[in-house]
Amino acid sequence: MKILIVADLHGQIPQIKTKDFDIILSPGDVCEDKYHRKYISQWFEEIKKGYKKSAFKYMIETLPKEELAQIEQKRLLGGKKVLEWLNKQGKRVYWVAGNWDGKPTTKEKEDTLFEQYEMIYKLFYEELDQNLKDFENVENIHLKLKKLPHINIFGLGRTFHPEFTKEVQAALNEKERKKLTQMDAKLKQKIKKIYEKRDKTKPTIILTHNSPYKTKLDKINNPQSSAHGKHIGSTIAKWMVTELQPEIFIGSHVHEAKGIEKIGKTTCLNTGFGKDINYIIDTKNMTIKEL
Ligand SMILES: [Zn+2]
Repeated sequence: MKILIVADLHGQIPQIKTKDFDIILSPGDVCEDKYHRKYISQWFEEIKKGYKKSAFKYMIETLPKEELAQIEQKRLLGGKKVLEWLNKQGKRVYWVAGNWDGKPTTKEKEDTLFEQYEMIYKLFYEELDQNLKDFENVENIHLKLKKLPHINIFGLGRTFHPEFTKEVQAALNEKERKKLTQMDAKLKQKIKKIYEKRDKTKPTIILTHNSPYKTKLDKINNPQSSAHGKHIGSTIAKWMVTELQPEIFIGSHVHEAKGIEKIGKTTCLNTGFGKDINYIIDTKNMTIKEL
């Protein structure tokens, strides 16, 4: 069986370079971001001056309501177009949501650091999910295990910031820390329970959005950025790699850290960003090849 992996697409229709594949995997961030970029840059400047809230919260505070609603609709429409196109390829598409694939931000509440992190565990992307009803080939596999003839595939959506680092824990008060600890443990328990049901005679692929925390796949390499050299991977992704040790782990999110890293017995792939990225996994020998 041959599995085609497309990249973190941000509203771009992928260019598929082969016809020789059986299913498609998408690590999320299918939604359009070009209308938001200007505000994200402004938010970065505000962060340097001491602004502490999230980029989405910054947009809620600074943009007129109608304008924000409009660009949010464009963001979701971009994602819908990508999923629609993937659906038309006539193959089964397994998809997980990225950080750009959430519901309209006007409904978000992210005032405190705790609320920002709480959001990550709450996982929300109902809007795009509603579209999937029309796309018979596309399936959101968040917290789902697919037992296919040659392989198991487990999906987890919306991993993005490092969820539960020492730094995050230290910045919370005791009550918040306790609550987040419980949410983190509960999610991991849930993951383990589902993962346990895989067909153990076959290899397993884990598909999520972010790359594992503190690896070469999650390091920002941009001397212009204030975050240069920082690791922005997911602690949950890292836990899935070290605790569950699937044969292959697929994530993305850190666009410039595209590549492959072996962690224990797991081959980890960061797909990178852009429409022309294609990887093929051949389940015969579990090799990953970039086209
Ligand atoms: Zn992305």
